Amino acid sequence: MFHPTRTYQASQHCSDSGQQRAGSTPDAPSERLLITDDDARLRASSVALLESRGYACEQAANGQEALERLLQGGIDLLLLDLMMPHMDGYQLLEEIQQRDIDCDVIVVSGEATFENATRVFRGGAIDFINKPFDPQTLFHRVEHSLQQRRLRRELEQARQELEASEQRYRFIVSHSPDIIYMIDGNGYFRFINERVSDLLGYRPEELIGQHYSVLVHEDDLELAAQAFELGPREIAGNRQIELRFKCRHPGDYARSFESKSIVIELSATPLQGPVERDAPPLGTYGVARDISDRKKAQELIQFQAYHDLLTRLPNRELFMDRLQLAISQAHRGGHQLAVLFLDMDGFKFINDSLGHITGDKLLQQVARRLSRTLRDSDTVSRIGGDEFNILLPDLQNAEEAGMIARKILDAFSRPIQLDHHEITIGFSIGISLYPGDADCAEDLIKNADMAMYHIKGRGKNGYEYFSDNMQQIYQFRHSLEQDIRKALELGQFEPWYQPQYAIDSGEIVGLEALIRWNHPERGLITPDVFIPIAEEIGLIGEIGRFMLEAGCRQLSEWIEQGCRPVKLSINVSPFQLIESNFDRVICDLAERHELPRDRLVMEITETALMQDMEQVLPRLKKLIHCGIGIAIDDFGVGYSSLSYLQSLPARALKIDRSFLSASRAEMDKSSIVKAIVAMAREMGLEVVMEGIETSEQLAYLREIGGIIGQGYLLGYPQTADRVEDLIA
Ligand code: C2E
Ligand code: MG
Ligand code: MG
Repeated sequence: MFHPTRTYQASQHCSDSGQQRAGSTPDAPSERLLITDDDARLRASSVALLESRGYACEQAANGQEALERLLQGGIDLLLLDLMMPHMDGYQLLEEIQQRDIDCDVIVVSGEATFENATRVFRGGAIDFINKPFDPQTLFHRVEHSLQQRRLRRELEQARQELEASEQRYRFIVSHSPDIIYMIDGNGYFRFINERVSDLLGYRPEELIGQHYSVLVHEDDLELAAQAFELGPREIAGNRQIELRFKCRHPGDYARSFESKSIVIELSATPLQGPVERDAPPLGTYGVARDISDRKKAQELIQFQAYHDLLTRLPNRELFMDRLQLAISQAHRGGHQLAVLFLDMDGFKFINDSLGHITGDKLLQQVARRLSRTLRDSDTVSRIGGDEFNILLPDLQNAEEAGMIARKILDAFSRPIQLDHHEITIGFSIGISLYPGDADCAEDLIKNADMAMYHIKGRGKNGYEYFSDNMQQIYQFRHSLEQDIRKALELGQFEPWYQPQYAIDSGEIVGLEALIRWNHPERGLITPDVFIPIAEEIGLIGEIGRFMLEAGCRQLSEWIEQGCRPVKLSINVSPFQLIESNFDRVICDLAERHELPRDRLVMEITETALMQDMEQVLPRLKKLIHCGIGIAIDDFGVGYSSLSYLQSLPARALKIDRSFLSASRAEMDKSSIVKAIVAMAREMGLEVVMEGIETSEQLAYLREIGGIIGQGYLLGYPQTADRVEDLIA
């Protein structure tokens, strides 16, 4: 039996005795040989010879044994006899070829005919040694074969490594997040990686052979040439350039591209060839990185720095910048410019009653409408809250600014549709002119602001040019603002009372509480002056509560004193109505002062109700339910929509004094008062006529009949102790 291991061990053992052992010294050959011969003596001598040179050898007595061993692997060189029993050398060669066994074969045979040699070489042998051989020939041929084999192996290994490394690079290039390309000296793509299809929608093979200009945005072609067409002198160093690559037209490709182009950062390097002086470069290769997102982020940051994010209008910084520029242009060109300062009327109320989200939406719509109303060359900016500044950079004359202010007011005469609300807003607009009113940006804005305050103080929704005396008015208003904050603490507010009479009987039936401010320096200030300011700076809630408290306390004192059973009307600001606990506060007060509920009336202006009926109505209904009366104040000057009156549980209408004319003839002609009274009766409402100043007016109202009157003719507002006589 053939025992390769044992045979090998035996041979190894043998080689231990004084000979070089295979693998034991650094230059010992590492290959393993299989000596196949049916002649045992010859076999043994071959083994001994080869082992003496350090080769590791195994033996086989015939082709069959050899094949079994070869199939186990690890044999590098087979020395093969041809004539053997069981399986001869030719058969084994055939088997080796068929089974693709990786082993070189040297045939060692005594039958060295030409025919045999041809046959074995065809069968895959690499050499032929003639028997008998001298040891030198054997060593030489064996070593030569093994060397060839080593070389082949190294070559194969190098090839494999090269292939692996090429695959790695190919992977890196095709999976690169950037476009990697190579173009020739004429600007045609020689290579471009897969990334181009994700970013631009072209398949690489479509671009190869195309000129780079197919990718470059038309406006960037000149710039692109700097990167793609490096001249002979630029052969060293590389270029970095930002430009736009066009995306393939959507629809041309499976994926559709949102944008028409992307911004890329291109870094190009010339291809180094055998450089001759002034020879055209071989081409360039480069990396193109998509920086669209970074660009967008940069643009956004830039935008945010100079714009109001809610309305997307320029902010104060940008406005100032443009204003300064416009001033220097106006200075050079010798023309005028205007700054408009806009403050929305009643925005605070809308914001408080409809909520900030609606408030924000309103601001956005207002911004849009403002921008549409003006020319592109004008700048509209939101500088905070409900305040806008407008720059009109080139005016023909001062009147033009007023015309534009008028145009803005007109544009806002139409209501704004917001969710299910229709909101009508107005603007107070102040105008200042360069160079007339100021010569620097800050002062122009400050003066326009002052002019705006002026119009605000005088009924709002209008415009006003700056004038020098406004400084004082501005300061007056400013100091009032400061003083109101202290007035409550210092007890400077006081309710006065104006009587109301049933005109038919002449009997006193009610009192209206009217607030007065005893200002330590300015004397008595009427509510027309300070209530709007208190509303704007958010103090009206406290002032309102003071009046309710003071009025209720007074009424309960009068009741205790046994005065006439008059009703007490107290004015309520729209801002109080939108406080969520408004109804409870009043009912609690009435209870605390043990007042008969039907003696209390809340006066609410018609315009206040128009703002947000849905929120306010349930609270008013609760008040009524609790027995407290509601009177609609200044009736007729508001939006005159009568429909809401039906849903509103009011008890009385107070007709605004503007409906009373000085002459009888005029009153007869308009007959508006008559009409309102008729309608009010129809709806079961009491009618109170305000502002009766003349006996003619009184006579007219008496003729209509059934009216309660209030006015200077019947009695001025006066302090509590003075009015006491009337109801005692
Ligand atoms: P109002 O509620 O319509 O009050 C009537 C105003 O007409 C009072 O002005 C009164 O003095 C004035 N008046 C009365 N009779 C005549 C007349 O015959 N001719 C003329 N020309 N005027 C007359 P007053 O006191 O200056 O109040 C102005 C407005 O201030 C009030 O109008 C009311 O809306 C508001 N107001 C007064 N007190 C308060 C208050 O405590 N809270 C709130 N929120 N508003 C108040
Ligand atoms: Mg009133
Ligand atoms: Mg009134």
